[in-house]
This record gives sequence, structure tokens and C-alpha cells, in this order.
Amino acid sequence: MCEQDWKRYRKYRFQLLTVWLASAPAALLCGVLSQSLFHSDVLLSLASVAFFVLFLYTGIRFQNFPCPRCRQSFAGKWWNNQSVFARSCHHCGLAKFGVCEE
Ligand SMILES: [Zn+2]
Repeated sequence: MCEQDWKRYRKYRFQLLTVWLASAPAALLCGVLSQSLFHSDVLLSLASVAFFVLFLYTGIRFQNFPCPRCRQSFAGKWWNNQSVFARSCHHCGLAKFGVCEE
């Protein structure tokens, strides 16, 4: 069970990083396509909103990842969230990618 949770953690982190890194080239491409096809910025605006929503979704999902042991937020509370830099669970102290004994 614990290994599945850490696998899901890595997947969420990869998706967040992918959205973050792909947003700039995708916006550039949409801007060029929008200007050449529609002679306006409508496609660029839509793509910007879509990437912003996708970034929010993946970011919030990653920030609220539940600890495999105690099932509370691994990175901390909303006012003290260590995000990707959290090395251990804020609540029970389980190390990142650590083995949870049940
Ligand atoms: Zn925990």
C-alpha cells in the first residue's frame, strides 16, 4: 500500500512539473497559431486560462497529497506548506519515500 502511495506521489510531482515546464512553449505556440489563423489572441487567451486551471489543479492535488501512514497532508498545513521540499511528514515524521510499517 505504501509503495503505491509513493508511486502516486511521484506521478503527481511529474505531472505538476510537466504542466509547469510545458506552459511557456505551449503558450508561445498558441500565440503564433492564433495570430496566423485568426489574426487575434483568442487562442492564446484560451490556452493561458486552460494552463492556469491545469496548473492549479495539479498543484493543489500535489500540495494536499496524503501521507501514506497518517493520511494527513504530507507537506504540511496550508499556512506552513513545504511543498516539494518536505523531507518528512509534517504530522507523523515519516520520511519521504520511507517504508510505512503497519
Ligand atoms: Zn504522516
